[in-house]
Formats: sequence, structure tokens, C-alpha cells
Amino acid sequence: MLQLLEEEKFDLTWRSTIYNLPKGILSFAVRASIDALPTFCNLATWGKRSSDRCKLCGKRETLHHVLNHCSVSLQQGRYTFRHNAILKHITDSIQDAIDLSQITATLYADIQGHTTNGGTLPVHILPTTQKPDLVTYLREQNTIHIQELTVPFEQNIKTSHDRKVNKYAALAADLRTGITTTLTCFEIGSRGLITPDNKSRLRTLFHVVKSKPPKNFFKDISRIAILSSYAIWNARHEPNWDSDTLL
Ligand SMILES: [Zn+2]
Repeated sequence: MLQLLEEEKFDLTWRSTIYNLPKGILSFAVRASIDALPTFCNLATWGKRSSDRCKLCGKRETLHHVLNHCSVSLQQGRYTFRHNAILKHITDSIQDAIDLSQITATLYADIQGHTTNGGTLPVHILPTTQKPDLVTYLREQNTIHIQELTVPFEQNIKTSHDRKVNKYAALAADLRTGITTTLTCFEIGSRGLITPDNKSRLRTLFHVVKSKPPKNFFKDISRIAILSSYAIWNARHEPNWDSDTLL
């Protein structure tokens, strides 16, 4: 992650975000960025623990495992909680931009209160079981923008991007036969890092509704990612997960 931060040196969002965090969370964010948290794997390496196995699933408990890769955490919705907290903030920000602009656009999102018939693509455009996270529909321009969020471990940002582009390529191609379609897949690191590529993709989400990201937009997203991951980290030895509310 330090390497990624180095590549990001022209943009100080992550650093300035973490310095505004409460002290305990700042310490988590810094130690997470250099893999110095007391995961069972690190404790075993440091000679302080004999087993490096995850209490939830039995696989090796690395930081990557806790924050992104535990099958039990996934199944219990721990990662969905983080994903949807970020998605909710993006959705609200784009909706505000639409409300303030002169443009007529409808925004659908795969979170409660923002779907259409349980999905995110209007059925009159294309009935499908696929549910991209965000869909911006501009009826007058006969244009639809499909946007998909992933929250991977920082080292996997590129792989996650390619995987999502492949996943939605066929859907975008099906749509293009009747309507102008764009596909934007973007990633927010689970430790709050937003790479320059992804900042520019996030700006695109606002450009399509003739707007710009609001002040502090990137910082707020970084912060939500770090706070959610901190909650996931703190609960790593808890067998149950209750996430009815979003951050
Ligand atoms: Zn596990």
C-alpha cells in the first residue's frame, strides 16, 4: 500500500483524511497501511501466538483476509455493509447534483429506496437479473450510464477493475443496441485509498449529470471506507454480525 501511496504522491487525499480521524482510528489506518496490526498471522510471525487461523473460517488470518477475503464475513454481509455505506454516500451526492442541475436524469442504486422493481435497470429498457450498483438514465438524450463500485484490498484494485469490466461488458453491449450506453467501473480501497484513475472515474459520474463532485467528496469516501473497515477489524473475532444501519 505504501507503494500505491507513493504513486499517489500528487494527491494528498488519503493522508489528509487520516489526520482528521479520531486518534484510535488514525492508529488503525496507519498500522493497516503498513500491515502492522496484530493479525493472527503477524502475531505468529512475532512469536506471540501459535495459531494463525481465522476464528470465523479457519483460514490464515492476514489483514487482507480480515478486510476483504473471509468467506464467513462475506456471507454475513460485513463487506456489503462497507460497500453500501460508500454507495449510499455516492448516491446521495449524485442525487443532490441532479436536483441542483437543469438536467432531467433518474438515478437508480442497488440500495434500499433507490431501486426500480427490485433492480437498477428500468424494465422497459432491458429486463435483466444483473444489478449494477448505479444507473443514471437520461431519457431525453436516450442515454444510460452504468456504474459499478468495488471495495477491494488496495493491491487488488487493478484486478477488481478488470473483473468488473468483464462482468458488465455483455450487459452494456446488449443495451447499446437500443440506447447510448457507457460503463464505468470504479474501486475504493478498503483502507480508504482512491487512486488517481478512480478519482477521474468518480468525476465522470458527476460529469454525466453536468456537475462536479462536492467539496470533500473524496475525503468523505476515504473516511467512510476506513471507518467501515475499522468496524470490520474490531469485529474479526465476533461470531455474529449485525449491520442493519449504514455509517
Ligand atoms: Zn476467515
